[in-house]
Amino acid sequence: MNPEAPTAEVRRRVSAGLLPKATHFRAFAGRSRGATCDACGQQILRSAVQYDIDLLDDSELVSSTVTMHPDCHVLWLELSRVSASIAGAGKFGELR
Ligand SMILES: [Zn+2]
Repeated sequence: MNPEAPTAEVRRRVSAGLLPKATHFRAFAGRSRGATCDACGQQILRSAVQYDIDLLDDSELVSSTVTMHPDCHVLWLELSRVSASIAGAGKFGELR
């Protein structure tokens, strides 16, 4: 396994919009049952730690749930913050 691949894949998915942005969510850490990481696409080994992340809509309802490696979760947060501030600047510029 190429240790650099997951990072590149997470970046690709976030920038391509394949992964939702970390704007409003609840995360739970738990023990993996062998799920596939939604961020990098690789399997989370059984009994390793995994993060289940409930993405919430404006009414605090769960709109979808994604599963990630702890490292991918951290990277996802970082990448989302960067792109969210860019998107936020764009929206602000459109206000009249
Ligand atoms: Zn991952």
